[in-house]
Amino acid sequence: MNSDAELLRSLNDLPKLISIICPMKNEAANLTAFLDRLIPVLQSVAVSYEIICINDGSDDDTLSKLLKLQVTYPQLRIVDFSRNFGKEAALTCGLDLARGDIVIPMDADLQHPPETISEMVLLWREGYEVVLAKRQHRSNESWLRRKTANSFYRLHNQISEIHIPADVGDFRLMDRKVVEALKRLPERRRFMKGLFAWAGFRQTTISFACEDRHAGRSNFTGWRLWNLALEGITSFSTLPLRIWIYIGAVISLSAFTYAVYLVVRTLIYGPDVPGYASLITALLFLGGVQLTGLGVLGEYIGRIYGEVKQRPVYIIRDLHEAENES
Ligand code: UDP
Ligand code: MG
Repeated sequence: MNSDAELLRSLNDLPKLISIICPMKNEAANLTAFLDRLIPVLQSVAVSYEIICINDGSDDDTLSKLLKLQVTYPQLRIVDFSRNFGKEAALTCGLDLARGDIVIPMDADLQHPPETISEMVLLWREGYEVVLAKRQHRSNESWLRRKTANSFYRLHNQISEIHIPADVGDFRLMDRKVVEALKRLPERRRFMKGLFAWAGFRQTTISFACEDRHAGRSNFTGWRLWNLALEGITSFSTLPLRIWIYIGAVISLSAFTYAVYLVVRTLIYGPDVPGYASLITALLFLGGVQLTGLGVLGEYIGRIYGEVKQRPVYIIRDLHEAENES
């Protein structure tokens, strides 16, 4: 056991209950290794613990493996979604169900080292309500993914009123107060990193070495990441909408100046038939600008549409809890 855990044990008022939220999509191959590393840490940092495993529409035997493991570990609370709702929905569900004084979302693929939890709990005991875990480096990711992640954080933070810290994912410790605040946020389309940052509270950051995935492949490919980035930006910024006022103003002003120039020139030199090139260029350019503007409007209207439908963020098929636990 590492020294943080020993130090925690020596302080006698441990947190009563710690909740781990673990979204899982096709993680069967990781489950045993994950629990083998996680459980000793949890036993050393809290009086009791619960691990909320959300089976987010896996196609493999994640659910049956979880149910088998629950016999040995009654602390597992297994949620089975009716289909794949995505990681953000799974995290939301975990927050709704968690009962702990401390709640920690983490991935099931061992990319988030469970040993970091001892350090987080120590900081919580010092009075921090949120302890963020920041990746030390992203060298185990491809060049493209690193670059796009960097640009995303930079762009997002420049144009949004809420700043999300770079390289901090969903792995973080939250006090009960923070969880209660997050549960009050009603939006259906949820960009959790942004919502976490929006809630505020007393925060500190620690760093951790992000390991390689224990088994299996990442669920987040280029297209899904692109959508997540769009979601992030349109959730917390209206700049993409407002910018059209300025683009429109600049184009209209240029068009007006050009018109004045044309009138003056016609008055001086007489009418001029050629001009096809400038005409078609202006036409295409303006057409493009209008379509992009419409696309941006569409994105936001789509979001409004999504919110007014008031559909639940997720649907649970079954909640499996050990009898003595519930
Ligand atoms: N995950 C999920 N639903 C999804 C996609 C992913 O619950 O639709 C879970 C996945 O099982 C893992 C975590 O979210 O525990 C992070 O996913 P992954 O490791 O695939 O992404 P990466 O670490 O590459 O960002
Ligand atoms: Mg992963």
